Amino acid sequence: MANFKVQEVLKNLNKNNFKAKYFSNVQEAKTAVLNEIAPNQSIGIGGSMTIYDMALHKELQDRGHKIYWHWLADPSERNEVRTKAADADVYLCSSNAVTVDGTLVNIDGIGNRVSSMFFGPKKVIIVCGINKITQDFEQAVDRIKTIVCPANAKRLKLNTPCAKTGKCHDCYTEERMCNITVKIERAPAGREIHIFLVDESLGF
Ligand code: SF4
Repeated sequence: MANFKVQEVLKNLNKNNFKAKYFSNVQEAKTAVLNEIAPNQSIGIGGSMTIYDMALHKELQDRGHKIYWHWLADPSERNEVRTKAADADVYLCSSNAVTVDGTLVNIDGIGNRVSSMFFGPKKVIIVCGINKITQDFEQAVDRIKTIVCPANAKRLKLNTPCAKTGKCHDCYTEERMCNITVKIERAPAGREIHIFLVDESLGF
């Protein structure tokens, strides 16, 4: 049973036209994601440790889906793969933060992930651990700058100050990953945005 705060988040996400559901564990969420995807649908995937750790790409490959994920591509082909992912039938990713009032907050370096969340694929499935819940937009940005970006910068061995110190220095480096901040307040018309909120800590 979801706790009071999670129930409030779910209620507000649904009020904002997202299709939000609660899952008590990641295995249940994984089964639900696979059930949402029809045979022959192509899949785009945004950069996401949650999706990677769930190994959803492997299950989908085994089922014969065409997968477009730049994480699996040769560096010289990554931009082309990002473009194809944005044109796929279904897009899978997570969200850097979900606010209690039911919005999604994300920061991107290139923008392929955030833009595909609201324009491009008609169906988007976002899998999100409850560790991503924040009270409001300000707390969401703070979470991203103090937890998500430093962890990702370290993982990717980027030459940014946060990779070395674990803190945001609002840098001007070439490899800065905080270039685009997006708050999705309501699911746009004609777009099916599913949010599977999992009662576990997933990703960063
Ligand atoms: S602005 Fe620079 S230092 Fe701050 S989190 Fe982003 S990449 Fe790291």
